[in-house]
Amino acid sequence: MKEQISSRIKDIKANIPNTVQLVAVSKTKPIEYIKYAYACNQRIFGENKVQELVEKHEALPKDIEWHMIGHLQTNKVKYIAPFVHLIHSVDSLKIAKEINKRAKQNERVINCLLQVHIAKEESKFGFTIEQTKDFVANNLKDYPNINFVGLMAMATFTTDEDVNKKEFKQMQELFSFVNKQNTNFSILSMGMSGDYKLAIQYNSTMIRLGSTIFGSR
Ligand SMILES: *Cc1c(COP(=O)(O)O)cnc(C)c1O
Repeated sequence: MKEQISSRIKDIKANIPNTVQLVAVSKTKPIEYIKYAYACNQRIFGENKVQELVEKHEALPKDIEWHMIGHLQTNKVKYIAPFVHLIHSVDSLKIAKEINKRAKQNERVINCLLQVHIAKEESKFGFTIEQTKDFVANNLKDYPNINFVGLMAMATFTTDEDVNKKEFKQMQELFSFVNKQNTNFSILSMGMSGDYKLAIQYNSTMIRLGSTIFGSR
């Protein structure tokens, strides 16, 4: 597995622009697999469950940047607030308020992305495009211990590329729109194993890859 993981990472990195950051999504995978990726210089890892994120953070080198990519419950924010590097999944005012509070308690400013709901699936969390514009126009300053640095989205899980193209284009336009406001967002987190090449064509700056690196779950 060690060889596979390292050759996959090298292959992905060789084929994406060097302006695009790679988040290795290690959810459900053992510590050992993360060590293999770490050994070939991967430093950004993403998890979607708080408990797993905390356990892996404790067990692994401290220069890893841990990203929370899954929906967060307010009662769990406190466990990751001391160390999390970027939260991709700010999807409500309530969670922003809690992250701000816990960041302050830890004397930190936590980097966050606003999660935008673009997919057709009901189950995916996030602000609508209009709510995102509204948040950017009115609420960014309400959370002094949050540094909002961009947007995150998950496209519909489908083999119909046209559906994903439309969604990524919406995000590209939204990203450019909000950057014309008073923001300086630098991160557009979109693209997973099945659609990252397409996402990059629509200006993704951060891709989140799990199964392509670590194998299917
Ligand atoms: C699991 C997950 C990924 C990675 O999915 P793959 O298809 O395995 O690349 C990316 N983003 C989020 C939010 C996820 O939950």
